[in-house]
Amino acid sequence: MTEKLGKIKDSLQDARSGRLIFLSHCLLNQNACVRGLASQPAVIRELVDLLLAHDIAFYQMPCPEVTYLGSMRWGQVKKMYGTPMFRRHCRQIAEQICDQAQTYRDNGHEVIGFVMRDGSPTCGLKCAAVSADDDQVWGGMVWHASPLQRFGRTEGVFTEELKAEVAQRGLQDLLFLSLPEVEEAGSFQDALAEIERAVTKQKQSVSA
Ligand code: SF4
Repeated sequence: MTEKLGKIKDSLQDARSGRLIFLSHCLLNQNACVRGLASQPAVIRELVDLLLAHDIAFYQMPCPEVTYLGSMRWGQVKKMYGTPMFRRHCRQIAEQICDQAQTYRDNGHEVIGFVMRDGSPTCGLKCAAVSADDDQVWGGMVWHASPLQRFGRTEGVFTEELKAEVAQRGLQDLLFLSLPEVEEAGSFQDALAEIERAVTKQKQSVSA
């Protein structure tokens, strides 16, 4: 222990930009991806670089799948995750995230929104993994099965629950953006450009 007393600061100004965005967990932790889906060793570097270039802090949302099934899980489709139990789990995360979004907004920060992950049955925004054939039976021993998936124009289960929570709290001005997990789920460069446009536009409208 030192004898020094903490100084009372005479100003509320500090180094913060006051801007933040919520990111799907795996954008900042590629180890969370279902095996075979990680596209980079650690983080999605282009997104991190872009956000830092604009002085935007990022808040990592929990991964709904890892916190439900663990890191050694099979890849699944939306109807397998569309259970009441998994939805409740997603709702709990959504509530916790919206609490965070609200408290920062209530205290003068600019919360830009959320970056989701196209292709995921859980975090997809523009598309999500669905069963290739609606009549296909999903179940039984995985080593006997050879199910096929496709990317359908639908949102993932967590995205649906997060949007519902956002709407219930009247926070609809928060943006929903996304980056694709795999190239079949969309163009990475186009999605990144859309995020850049959104964060630049938002900044201009705040400073105008
Ligand atoms: S897309 Fe969503 S569920 Fe899938 S690994 Fe990333 S955070 Fe987890």
